[in-house]
Amino acid sequence: MSLFVHVSDFQLTQLWKKSDTEVVVAVVPSQIKGRSFVIHHSELCSLRPHQWLNGEIIESLFHVAAHASGVVDTIYILSHYTAGVILFGDRTELPRQSLPRVNFDNYEAVLSFVLVNNNHWKLLYINTNASTVFLMDPAQLSSELEDSKNAAKRIQEYFKMRRTCHGKTDWVGIRWKGGAMRHPIQQDGSSCGVIVVKMAKALMEAFPLMPDVEFDTTKKAMKDERKALGLHILEASVFDDQTCCAMCAAYKPPVSGPQMTDWIQCDRCDKWFHALCLDIKSNQYEKAKRGSWKCLLCT
Ligand SMILES: [Zn+2]
Ligand SMILES: [Zn+2]
Repeated sequence: MSLFVHVSDFQLTQLWKKSDTEVVVAVVPSQIKGRSFVIHHSELCSLRPHQWLNGEIIESLFHVAAHASGVVDTIYILSHYTAGVILFGDRTELPRQSLPRVNFDNYEAVLSFVLVNNNHWKLLYINTNASTVFLMDPAQLSSELEDSKNAAKRIQEYFKMRRTCHGKTDWVGIRWKGGAMRHPIQQDGSSCGVIVVKMAKALMEAFPLMPDVEFDTTKKAMKDERKALGLHILEASVFDDQTCCAMCAAYKPPVSGPQMTDWIQCDRCDKWFHALCLDIKSNQYEKAKRGSWKCLLCT
């Protein structure tokens, strides 16, 4: 089977119809060569209408968009976990997020997103050309300018910490200020993640210019966008389901176990699995080998 199969709406809606499993449905290349995101079925399912988006899905969509708009070498996509620690974390946690191998001088901007109140995503945009930090709230529940100013202070501290801990001087001399820009407002209770991705895409596509961030946020528009984002993930996937395990995404079984294991193929979707990763008992395995066997996703 070819790696680059055409993905249809039908395939996506079929995956959404099933109850969540941890089967791998896509492997999406990150901005950094050789690194990728493993997307599990449950994560893809968070794009279903009215569901709150999973952080891994949002982050991989940022990387897909960076490739599509040709900004992988100019805009650094910061992990949302690191961004959360920089903006809201305890200062003692900061040194562990110092990214000693990244040279920010190689980039002109940073894009990321952060979780607030455990249930709401906001977009973080750091632009060196304007020395400005934007913290954009899809629902605009608080003053974005105030939030951005606070974020700018934390960003300033972050780069000072990197100089103290690693002698890194990239971006340390910039006097960061907070900024705000017009953008569409969320109208429902679950689509903050979708709007964060849409805003990030608009910023990447217009870069280095500042875009007019404008799009529809109606129920219908959000529903269509969720489908489009799901298809982007499946289309960007480089997962080779004929040589890799659909449970751990790797050829070799996980290092914690033995280096050898049996393989078992689903008779319905043809995906392959390490018997080890399925935690399948040997008598069950023998039975599955003789008869037909369907994976979690197909039963
Ligand atoms: Zn495996
Ligand atoms: Zn299957």
